[in-house]
Amino acid sequence: MSMDANLSAVLYKKGDLRLEDRTVPEPGPGEVQISMHSVGICGSDVHYWHSGAIGHFVVKNPMLLGHECSGTVSKVGKGVTHLREGDRVAIEPGVPCRKCEVCRNGRYNLCQDVFFLATPPDNGALARYHTHAADFCYKLPNSVSFEEGALIEPLSVGLHACRRGGVTLGHVVVVCGAGPIGLSAMLSAKAMGASVVCMTVNLDSKRLEFAKAMGATHTVLIESKDVVAFTETVINTLWVRPDVVVECSGAQFSIDLAIGVLKPGGVLVMVGHGPDNVSIPASSTIAREIEIRGSFRYKNTWKAALDMVASGAINVKPMVTHHFPLEKTLDAFNTAKSGAGIKVIIDCFRE
Ligand code: NAD
Ligand code: ZN
Repeated sequence: MSMDANLSAVLYKKGDLRLEDRTVPEPGPGEVQISMHSVGICGSDVHYWHSGAIGHFVVKNPMLLGHECSGTVSKVGKGVTHLREGDRVAIEPGVPCRKCEVCRNGRYNLCQDVFFLATPPDNGALARYHTHAADFCYKLPNSVSFEEGALIEPLSVGLHACRRGGVTLGHVVVVCGAGPIGLSAMLSAKAMGASVVCMTVNLDSKRLEFAKAMGATHTVLIESKDVVAFTETVINTLWVRPDVVVECSGAQFSIDLAIGVLKPGGVLVMVGHGPDNVSIPASSTIAREIEIRGSFRYKNTWKAALDMVASGAINVKPMVTHHFPLEKTLDAFNTAKSGAGIKVIIDCFRE
């Protein structure tokens, strides 16, 4: 086994993902160096690898991938007081400017001057070592594994979306899409007190079985393209109209469905990225005062998510279907792209 200093997964350009040895980064003031343990592959990592861009984020220079991650603090920079060498941590990938209006009013996920792992031009953390702002690293409770620590990131997307929707005790919630984000929204909605959670997803009945096993109270397979008929099917399955729909597929069909099934005054939370422009059924939205809310990444979710996982109130573990060592990063990406599983984890520690 060769000893690399800091084996890193670097995307040079579209389709060109390489493993290369890099120098070990030293932590600056307020930062920690982390010996990486688990990094989950996100749809966006696969997309950058395959398309070289997401919207106006274009990979122009070599960039490390990976932003769903956890590891062990291996060095502490100047001024860091809440972490010590040896602490196991989950990493929040976005570090905002802390100075602008949205940062100061608390909605730091909307900061336009954010450093965000594996979003061009910012490097990700798929490597042996990574340095990160210490206050965006959260100690893992003893009962929380590194793997679960990495899953706090996708879980946070679902948790934030449910907060945006105002999900609360007794709500009926429909989640569209049964990928890691939809599943995270389903888990969060249940933990926040939703009485009924229904997952809808097209094409893929295996993913629905998965959602059911993870706790969805109902699942509905989209079998027709007739959204009006399908709206009836969803309402008949639930026996009521939902208070909140969390849309995690981006599909036009789902948006039409969401507005069709919602209660008067209900809330549609848009999470999934589909086409840049989608249409909404305007008269139904107007006459029934449907609220449409965007949901972007997360803010202030790590503590709650970690505590919920530590207590067992949320179980994210079943989401992990595959593991690969860092050396086999390409196999891991091919598996993620094939859609064979739900979440692929890369183990970054030396064997
Ligand atoms: P995924 O591809 O694993 O899951 C998407 C799911 O949607 C799949 O189960 C798929 O079968 C289903 N789907 C596809 N077309 C559909 C349709 N016509 N109707 C209903 N369901 C359909 O993706 P993921 O990782 O779970 O992410 C879900 C979405 O959330 C993506 O669009 C992603 O870009 C987006 N996302 C948004 C944020 C945010 O901050 N807003 C963060 C992360 C991911
Ligand atoms: Zn800011």
